[in-house]
Amino acid sequence: MIVILEPDLGGQEATVAAVRTAAARFPGLTVRPYEFKGTTHRFAEVHLLGPTAGVPAEPFERLPGVRQVVRVSAKYRLIGRHGRGETAGFEHHGVRIDDASVHVFAGLCAVDTPAHVDAMMAALAREGVVTTRMGAYKPRSSPYDFQGLGKECLPWVFESAGRHGIKLIAMEATDASHLDEIEDALERAGQPTGVMIQIGTRNAQNYELLKQVGRRQEFPVLFKRGMGITLEESLNACEYIASEGNARIVFCLRGVKSHLGEPHRNLVDFAHVPVVRRQTRLPVCIDPSHSVGTGLAAPDGLPDIFHATAQGVVAGAAAVLVDFHPQPACALCDGGQALTLAMLGPLLDHVRRMRAAYEASVAACPAVA
Ligand code: PEP
Ligand code: MN
Repeated sequence: MIVILEPDLGGQEATVAAVRTAAARFPGLTVRPYEFKGTTHRFAEVHLLGPTAGVPAEPFERLPGVRQVVRVSAKYRLIGRHGRGETAGFEHHGVRIDDASVHVFAGLCAVDTPAHVDAMMAALAREGVVTTRMGAYKPRSSPYDFQGLGKECLPWVFESAGRHGIKLIAMEATDASHLDEIEDALERAGQPTGVMIQIGTRNAQNYELLKQVGRRQEFPVLFKRGMGITLEESLNACEYIASEGNARIVFCLRGVKSHLGEPHRNLVDFAHVPVVRRQTRLPVCIDPSHSVGTGLAAPDGLPDIFHATAQGVVAGAAAVLVDFHPQPACALCDGGQALTLAMLGPLLDHVRRMRAAYEASVAACPAVA
């Protein structure tokens, strides 16, 4: 059961205390208050856990400061939308991620050399982009493939980010110790940039990792949909992160494994953008690179990655995660799907055009009850 307080409530503590007192009349209930920051409002809720079936809503509904009481049967207690207004965006290191705009996290799938990292960051800075992706810890299908440079590269990656004004880096962690390494490197470098921890598709059901990431409030999380599990299972995995205390989660669609996706690497699943937005309050990201998996272009000249990007952005995605490399032929991981730096400007223009089309369509469409 969720007791939703009025947004931006003054005297919130008094209402939470009153909910606690009312809940104490029902044996076995656990009371957990939560707070979320939307784009324009602050939301607070008190969750009542335990044997709530026989607990009436009325004593909670009539408390001053309570807007609504929702019975949540089971699913997505924290991340679920449950009729609760705005998407739960967040701000990290000066970058706000929510439904109001699209951020493009363009960067290297795998960090390889300082020169490549610097060239990438410089290209982003020239375009006014402050978000990137940089893989230091790579989960590879073969143990003989390049595994990423790990913590060794963090000092120069963060230094370069700071020098080029990059504010937020999406970086995968495959083990909780990587969070300590990232935190330590950021501190040593003087916090020149922020990091959003990426949970890769292969770890989508690594519940111990999810719980540990959930306990680390200092990093927002980019969670990638599990490639071979249902959407519901992936959303439950996000609920694990949130239930440990970290609700700053972006849900990333990256395609699902199916031979029916061939000749693409995965079957593009961006039709699920509106589904995730309806079912949850999480901002949605799309990863056209790992979905499509090839740099090939259509006869119209646009790479398949551009076409897939269009599908996601036109459906209301809040972020795009996309592989670039200054010299794709030399990339140590996923070079075949990396776009060249010459494509950065065109991709950003493409995203802007698709976003404008999305906003125009939303504005033109009569509200559906
Ligand atoms: C990645 O983004 O570098 C990656 C490994 O993606 P995924 O987990 O979606 O395969
Ligand atoms: Mn990759």
